[in-house]
Amino acid sequence: MTDSIALRRAWEKHPHFRYRGCAPDVDQPSRAAGDTALSLDAWHGEDLDGGEPQRVREARQAAAVEVCLNCPVMVQCDAYANSVVVEGGKARLAEPDGIWGGRLALERHRAFIRRRHEVAAQAPVRQMRTPQRLRVLEALAVHAEAEAVAQAAGVDVRTANWQRSRLVTQLNLDKGTATRRELLAAAVDQGLLDESVVVADDGTVPAVPPPVPSSGSSPSSRPAPSAEAVPSVEVPGASGGLSSGSVPAVGRLRASRPRRGRRSRVTIAGPGQLPLFDTPPPSSSAPVVSLRSVPVSLGAAA
Ligand code: SF4
Repeated sequence: MTDSIALRRAWEKHPHFRYRGCAPDVDQPSRAAGDTALSLDAWHGEDLDGGEPQRVREARQAAAVEVCLNCPVMVQCDAYANSVVVEGGKARLAEPDGIWGGRLALERHRAFIRRRHEVAAQAPVRQMRTPQRLRVLEALAVHAEAEAVAQAAGVDVRTANWQRSRLVTQLNLDKGTATRRELLAAAVDQGLLDESVVVADDGTVPAVPPPVPSSGSSPSSRPAPSAEAVPSVEVPGASGGLSSGSVPAVGRLRASRPRRGRRSRVTIAGPGQLPLFDTPPPSSSAPVVSLRSVPVSLGAAA
């Protein structure tokens, strides 16, 4: 808004403003100074458009534009009228109606929309211009090794690779196949990089190095738990089919309090059938014991 006000002032304060084409003629104040055949309404005929025959309207508009093209303040007029103001959260032209600066309202609106699209298209490029990302890009232009790129950019390898990945995405390259050469070429096209600083490679260097698993950071890189690492639960006084050794602590172990003259019941609720015997394993002829509910005697039967 402030820009529009300033631009309007610049137009109105221009030394030749009083000689503008659409100013009132000295002798015929209702006529335009630039063409006395034209009414002063010729530039702002939106109210006339409804009842104005098309041919008459087009002739009027053409005559008004002709006057504009000879107007000494056309540039300032155009700059003000087509500046953008924001009202109620919406952007619009400072002068949305009529002829200003030699252009019809329709032409000016089209230019306004085109400008907005161009600005929107430039947004991703602006997002790419973070200082760290540009440093990584400049480092990548000179180096091919991931470590060298990171060192030259002053970041760690993981950060450098992440920035390279962001660049690949923002430059609309294929993350799976993009090469360093393609990334740098796209960056040059977008004006992010000067072509003269790019050191060429053979075209096989990936734009983003494959991830290097850090030790212990991913499940697949973790060592499988050893048998010793599995905690065990002692079953006190277990006898009969259940060995008195350790049982893998997978699932829950519950033992009911033994009652006089009764056998206690140990229940292991787990995800499935677990080996009940440590060593030796039961022979194939041994009866199959379900771990869901295993009746055992705890110590000598009372
Ligand atoms: S350029 Fe602007 S000031 Fe000049 S005649 Fe056209 S509308 Fe009027």
